Amino acid sequence: MNAVTPESAATSPDRLRLTEIFLSLQGESRSIGWPTVFVRLTGCPLRCQYCDTAYAFHGGQWWDYDGILAEVAGHGVRHVCVTGGEPLAQKRCIGLLQRLCDAGYEVSLETSGAMDIAEVDPRVSRVLDIKTPGSAEVERNLWSNIALLTAHDQVKFVICSREDYDWAKAMVAEHRLVERCEVLFSPSFSQVRPRELADWIVADRLPVRFQLQLHKILWDDEPGR
Ligand code: SF4
Repeated sequence: MNAVTPESAATSPDRLRLTEIFLSLQGESRSIGWPTVFVRLTGCPLRCQYCDTAYAFHGGQWWDYDGILAEVAGHGVRHVCVTGGEPLAQKRCIGLLQRLCDAGYEVSLETSGAMDIAEVDPRVSRVLDIKTPGSAEVERNLWSNIALLTAHDQVKFVICSREDYDWAKAMVAEHRLVERCEVLFSPSFSQVRPRELADWIVADRLPVRFQLQLHKILWDDEPGR
């Protein structure tokens, strides 16, 4: 990877700390299955109990926008996903998203739901987590984000138990989420059997999309896949 040098990073006004940039298949959300370049920003203020990217909490390297754009272009695909950690924890993420959109990519953003999404470029498809009680971070949900969601966005619940499912179902109704955007329910990998969650959704005729994380099935969550 071509990070900026430590000297230029110190002075660059558009630098970001990145854990990795890699090519894989999109494992979730509306773009599932597309070859996608992932730009993983370093750092997250949350500590969800099921987090599978704790390796992105610390470390990383400084990159500037031009370096990131060049690396992304080198992979030769149309879809780019900016993720983390929590990408919006770095303010310059907003400028990066704009640059990627300007360059003509299909850009998605995976965010924890704890940060304000108001400044995100409207061309970006935002995949916003709503943290359930079972995540251990439910109090971090920034509910004012809900009013900003459009049909271009998605919200995602990672379900850790039947109690989580019932809570998520209540939130979908209370915030009329289905009228705003697509709603995804995904099982927390080792905590709810996928079939159990699928059966609950079908039994309730809940208008949400069940999804399994493709990259966990294909690559067992190896970093960089
Ligand atoms: S918000 Fe995402 S990256 Fe941060 S702790 Fe939760 S699952 Fe991990």
